[in-house]
Amino acid sequence: MAQKECCLAVDIGGTKIEVGLFAPSGEMLSQSKRFSVQFNNKKQADIYHLATATKDYLRKEKQVGWKLVGIGISVCGHVDEKGTAVVLAPNLGWRDYAAGEILDRIFHLPIHMEVDTAMAATAEMMWGAARNVKHFAWCTIGTGRGSYYVLDGKLFGGAHGFAGEIGHITIDERNGYPCGCGRRGCLETYITGPAIARAGQEAVKRGESDMMKEMAGESEITARVVIQAMQKKDPAACRIIDEKINMIAKVMGGLANTLDLEMIIIGGGVASAIPGFIEIIQERSRDYLMFEEAKKELRIAGETFSNAALYGAAANFFIKEGVLSNV
Ligand SMILES: [Zn+2]
Repeated sequence: MAQKECCLAVDIGGTKIEVGLFAPSGEMLSQSKRFSVQFNNKKQADIYHLATATKDYLRKEKQVGWKLVGIGISVCGHVDEKGTAVVLAPNLGWRDYAAGEILDRIFHLPIHMEVDTAMAATAEMMWGAARNVKHFAWCTIGTGRGSYYVLDGKLFGGAHGFAGEIGHITIDERNGYPCGCGRRGCLETYITGPAIARAGQEAVKRGESDMMKEMAGESEITARVVIQAMQKKDPAACRIIDEKINMIAKVMGGLANTLDLEMIIIGGGVASAIPGFIEIIQERSRDYLMFEEAKKELRIAGETFSNAALYGAAANFFIKEGVLSNV
């Protein structure tokens, strides 16, 4: 492939799709564009709408001197080994859905598709904070929680590509809250944005915070309200955020102990909304590390990209086409 060849990256999330054109260097060649996922009457994400919106974008963003040679796709669901069909993406209503093959017929270009968590880790490995790092975890803590591992310089998917679901370790199946996975009391239900919001709502119900009550007004208390109240030193909000941060620090320490990691990259809405989050986790996770080596060397880093999965979709395309090497 010549140097002036580029690929289209497509990140298909549960509600939004983002597209952008990338060079093999990781440079985004044009402003990326976001549009909403449209659902058809079978409650499935409409791939034909996606194709039309993408074609529109390509027409407007034609790059002089660059040739589009293929499409890298990141999707919020599990993908088959060939990288052409989505095995399961609950948010999109796709099960055993040959999304890649349909897009191949429309665009007549090579397509490589992968789960978004793996793509985010790939972006960090190729172009981000984890360049030259052989053992790291990528985690996001936001509305939900996702993670993926790179071990020995390679993406670690496990037996079925499901590795990384640390958020679904059961903490309390009796008294815990229902989780998106259908079970109860998973770790995810304790540390994500909705968990912070719920803790805020409960504190207000117990009469512990007039400030959060006032800030929310008529609306429900959100994670953002709790974080803002924490910044204004509301005691209940401070306690909630402190507890959540401690729990996250324990999980990160445990993850590093389990896999002997060099780095953990943390992204997502919760991480970016709490000031100094990365530094706090770096500090507190030390208390839970077993080995002196890890205490000295483990690095906690923020994510490099505003949408790592989009960058990763491009990087994965170039790796699969032999343009980039990940070893
Ligand atoms: Zn769960």
